[in-house]
Amino acid sequence: YTPPPYDGPSADEVLRKRAQFLSPSLFHFYKKPLNIVDGKMQYLFDENGRRYLDVFGGIATVSCGHCHPEVVEAVIKQTKKLQHSTIVYLNHAIADFAEALASKMPGDLKVVFFTNSGTEANELALMITRLYTGCQDIISIRNSYHGNAAGTMGATAQSIWKFNIVQSGVHHAINPDQYRGIFGSEGPKYARDVQEIIDFGTSGQVAGFISEAIQGVGGIMELAPGYLPAVYKIIKKAGGLCIADEVQSGFGRTGTHFWGFENHGVIPDIVTMAKGIGNGIPIGAVITTPEIAQALTRRSYFNTFGGNPVCTAGGHAVLRVLEKEKLQENAFTVGSYLKDRLKELQKKHEIIGDVRGRGLMLGVELVTDRQSKTPAKSEILHVMDEMKDMGVLVGKGGFYGNVFRITPPLCFTKQDSDFFVDVMDI
Ligand code: PLP
Repeated sequence: YTPPPYDGPSADEVLRKRAQFLSPSLFHFYKKPLNIVDGKMQYLFDENGRRYLDVFGGIATVSCGHCHPEVVEAVIKQTKKLQHSTIVYLNHAIADFAEALASKMPGDLKVVFFTNSGTEANELALMITRLYTGCQDIISIRNSYHGNAAGTMGATAQSIWKFNIVQSGVHHAINPDQYRGIFGSEGPKYARDVQEIIDFGTSGQVAGFISEAIQGVGGIMELAPGYLPAVYKIIKKAGGLCIADEVQSGFGRTGTHFWGFENHGVIPDIVTMAKGIGNGIPIGAVITTPEIAQALTRRSYFNTFGGNPVCTAGGHAVLRVLEKEKLQENAFTVGSYLKDRLKELQKKHEIIGDVRGRGLMLGVELVTDRQSKTPAKSEILHVMDEMKDMGVLVGKGGFYGNVFRITPPLCFTKQDSDFFVDVMDI
């Protein structure tokens, strides 16, 4: 694929406009910011037609590949037919997609609410949890990221993403971090902290618990094994509901299962999703049981764009492509291969402290010293810049900002993995 010649404004011009007209809180990764103007499958292209392997996948969002033809076609078809009416009228695109999503869920998780983003999905999930239980106390995990509105910022537990606004009613449990955590990989030991929070910080009853299956923004942290089943038991005993935030870890990304929580052998009461569900189209969803969904029927609940027919038609096409092209299976095969290659690289480079994750949701943590695990915060920026110059874009995150986040489109190949690792091996 060769993108058509670009005749838009240059990177410098965009940067100038951005500084003048967009929020000063915006940030970028690179010393000389990139002007991305085209995308095709696992590749992005800059204004000069230069190709980059997109290892970040728009932050684990581009599940099938940039501008996947079947998703584009579904969106165009629906856009020409009906862009928007309102959820108070019937439209089959919405109902069809809800049915298809529900069919991917275990247990009684069948009722779908559509939203526009992951934040909005989690805000709704937290509200349902509080309404259903009649309690306010929510427990989330330190180092998690759940969104940037008042409720979800409360559930988020990384100082970089927190502003001083009212975020009451959320308690943050010790992170079951297998790399730095005090109990290593002994998940049930970390779970005891959740019981202590309930005993010391609440009336004994809680609204619920929210967690990612693998912390994404927090630096691709896999929760220690046995943690989630133990916590789910504790929460249920305290009358609460368990929310699985699948915004990053869902839609086959972990390779072994369609949903990240399935890797932990638990069944949540509420599942939230966004990012990969739309391959870049802004859409999110909350799925729960018919009984819990009743919590919202006491009053009217509505949002203008949630379930918009263009977004749901696009989302449905994403689901079909994931199945047709066996992208979850590909995430498993290619992800396992890539992880092995990264582990080999770790043997060679002292700066690689940890390689972790599942499927095509992998993390590489950089440290200046393996013994003390001192985060290599400035080094990572330098390596990222060099990798960009060699045609690879990778994400970054973690509490210390020293973890490469590897979340490419799920059509990523073994050859792409080899290229990525060779570029990293600099
Ligand atoms: N939950 C998780 C796990 C996320 O990674 C994110 C975003 O990165 C969100 C929620 C918030 O989603 P959004 O940015 O679509 O509001």
